[in-house]
Amino acid sequence: MDSTECRNRAEQVLMHTYARYPVVLERGEGVYLYDTEGKKYLDFSAGIGVFALGYHNAEYNDALKAQIDKLLHTSNLYYNEPALFAAEAFTKASGMDRVFFTNSGTEAVEGAIKLARKYYYKRHGAADSEIIAMEHSFHGRSMGALSVTGKKSYREAFEPLIGGVRFADFNDLSDVASKITEKTAAIILETVQGEGGVYPATKEFLSGVAALCKEKDILLILDEVQCGMGRTGTLFAYEQYGVLPDILVSAKALGCGVPVGAFAAREEVAAAFEPGDHGTTYGGNPFVTAAVGKVFELFEAQNVLGNVKENGAYLYEKLEQLAKECDAVVEHRGIGFMQGLEFSYPVGDIIKKALSNGLILISAGPNTLRFLPPLIMQKEQIDEMAELLKKCISEFSQKTVDR
Ligand SMILES: *Cc1c(COP(=O)(O)O)cnc(C)c1O
Repeated sequence: MDSTECRNRAEQVLMHTYARYPVVLERGEGVYLYDTEGKKYLDFSAGIGVFALGYHNAEYNDALKAQIDKLLHTSNLYYNEPALFAAEAFTKASGMDRVFFTNSGTEAVEGAIKLARKYYYKRHGAADSEIIAMEHSFHGRSMGALSVTGKKSYREAFEPLIGGVRFADFNDLSDVASKITEKTAAIILETVQGEGGVYPATKEFLSGVAALCKEKDILLILDEVQCGMGRTGTLFAYEQYGVLPDILVSAKALGCGVPVGAFAAREEVAAAFEPGDHGTTYGGNPFVTAAVGKVFELFEAQNVLGNVKENGAYLYEKLEQLAKECDAVVEHRGIGFMQGLEFSYPVGDIIKKALSNGLILISAGPNTLRFLPPLIMQKEQIDEMAELLKKCISEFSQKTVDR
């Protein structure tokens, strides 16, 4: 089908919740995507931090094909081996004791909130708990996840949301401390804020919050939907901070393309849930958990973390250089393969120009370019990206000067 026809027809039937780019993607190979007209794109977004292993990974694809021929779905009323293997791999890798698989990051956040409330309810015998969340955070679009998302424009039209949520400034320990009350059940935050602009938590902040939580019997919920699963160079970003969450939330690269998320907890916390407290029809079915199991296996076999450490540092150097050369860059932030370049102007036009030049980038807030490549990205392709991006920025700034 002609690309224009596809786009026009899609605009007739899909809800207008996205301003889509005028590209119809068809297939992928490694770190490259191809559209229906055969045009090649270097992908620095990985489907928003999902496709860690790169496109068309033969071993991953074969594992899924084999599972399709065995069993796709059974419901959670019975056991299945792929879910067991995925749960064992996830708990072992995260330091958590028990996990619940969901269909998305948002649902995993919902589960984490419910677990925190149930834990509080059992200890206090009252359903009056509060949650502290961060300004500029992102946790999802459902009513619960939206309630803890620190962007007013996302929330406003959908209120009233769940009550008892207080927002504190990220990386401001005294502000968090000032929001704590007798009723605080949990503090939820992203170890590295993603959508909000790529802001890593500082060491002092995260260890300070963890200490406050311990002291006051508050649960620490770390949302690592975006920054987890290897993106920062360790499997979970909190490993670099020397803290352990009470509840961990994961998704995005967890399934590398199949819809799966997870929330996990220490035994004592997980024990607050009893049969009937939470459930899902699809969640953790054998198809998606076969993917999760394979992802853990391939991360190990293909030394994905080693690559992120080495080439994430290389990407950092390259972007540092670019930031120095380009006056419009205000700040460079991030770790591993989760980095951001903040500009003094909105980056929408740079992203469009990059796309037409065969480079896929996304933003994080209006002025920040976000780099979330597949975790297998190599130096050569980082160089290719830097060249393309430099060209786009200089063309763009030239135009701005001319105007
Ligand atoms: C993307 C994201 C979510 C929501 O995940 P979905 O799979 O889109 O529901 C939640 N938290 C963070 C930090 C995210 O980046």
